[in-house]
Amino acid sequence: MTTESKNPETIGLHGGTFRRDESQTSVAVPIHQTTSFQFNSAEHAANLFGLKEFGNIYTRIMNPTNNVLEERVAALEGGVAGLCVSSGQAASAFVIQNLCNAGDNVVASTDLYGGTVNLFNNTLKAMGIEVRYADPADPENFKKAVDDKTRLFYAETLPNPSLRVFPIKEVADIGKPLGIPLVMDNTSCPVICKPIEHGAAIVMHSLTKFIGGHGNSIGGIIVDSGQFDWSVNKDRQPNIWQPDASYHGAVWGDAVPQLTGANIPFIIRARVVLLRDLGSAISPFNSFQIIQGLETVALRMKQHCSNAEKVKDFLLKHSKVDKVIYSSLHEGEIGDRAKRYFKGGNGALMGIELKGGLEAGKKFIDNLKMLYHVANIGDARSLAIHPASTTHSQLSEADMLKAGVTPGYVRLSIGIEHPDDIIADLDQALNA
Ligand code: PLP
Repeated sequence: MTTESKNPETIGLHGGTFRRDESQTSVAVPIHQTTSFQFNSAEHAANLFGLKEFGNIYTRIMNPTNNVLEERVAALEGGVAGLCVSSGQAASAFVIQNLCNAGDNVVASTDLYGGTVNLFNNTLKAMGIEVRYADPADPENFKKAVDDKTRLFYAETLPNPSLRVFPIKEVADIGKPLGIPLVMDNTSCPVICKPIEHGAAIVMHSLTKFIGGHGNSIGGIIVDSGQFDWSVNKDRQPNIWQPDASYHGAVWGDAVPQLTGANIPFIIRARVVLLRDLGSAISPFNSFQIIQGLETVALRMKQHCSNAEKVKDFLLKHSKVDKVIYSSLHEGEIGDRAKRYFKGGNGALMGIELKGGLEAGKKFIDNLKMLYHVANIGDARSLAIHPASTTHSQLSEADMLKAGVTPGYVRLSIGIEHPDDIIADLDQALNA
């Protein structure tokens, strides 16, 4: 670490071991746009391949630019090691494939990003991996869905469109004595929520969103907390405790702590097995772009969140708006979760239900002048989309409602422009 600071503003700039480029002393992180790395000697090469020491071999598996991003996001999340991959989707697939084989299952929250649901219900199913869903309104639903083949719990901190904050500690605590790690997709909440502090074993992000922040690069990351006790029930985690034939019978649960001194068999296996075999590597150029975003993510999240509060207050009073959906507006225990799990703001994502349903939703989108109409979240710019006519249009009306999408629902991702300008654009589009 170049800094012991726990403050996200500082970690974004100084987290991890990078201080300067050792050969040319550059302070900006260099883009190591190379496929391969020259070995020091035959012995050095043999040691790297035999995992006797860690170092750069080939950019599919490891790269110094990607490494800076991995260390900094791991520091931001309070974890001990990270692994960048080519997209958030690849990160979601990897966290499952790292622990599950055909016949195994995952218990996942019912509140998930649609791309994740497609992955779970179709591609993973075709591979023989079952995903069971549990409604996080009651954390005990996760316990009820567990059997001997359950390898992990999976959820999003702040899923849209419901924007119900996930009960992280409650579900992590159910998993720990059973040897089941909780994986949290924290894409919507960098800086304002640190799931590892609440017991999550693994955190992942689509770096494409708030961390990159400028809508220019796709990327994903997985962070290992280094805190999960994989040995609670060794039969529960065969990929950690069974010999791996592709590494001369290495048992990751034993070999990784011996080699690294850290409890990170999960992230090392993901790198040396999945990234080696499936090849979903991030480009160093994308890592460089995302590092520029990471350097200011803490500052941007403050502005995203304070703008969102002002927009929420404005929309709550607007005559054309039936309902505002926002993390802190839910009633009862679910609304309280925003207070328990968020620090420094309640997020940038918001939903509005317009009086006038489907047609009102489409008209509102067409009348926006400054907000972008895109299928993305977490850009510095404010964004909007009407799910009923776009992202959710293939669903039946009943399934749409189950996902929390009413015909007049519009999703907003509030950006960092001046709040008066965001409000002015929303107001003219609502009144047009
Ligand atoms: N997770 C969440 C919560 C997302 O919103 C997204 C994308 O929208 C993803 C994962 C997938 O990320 P990517 O688009 O980088 O593959």
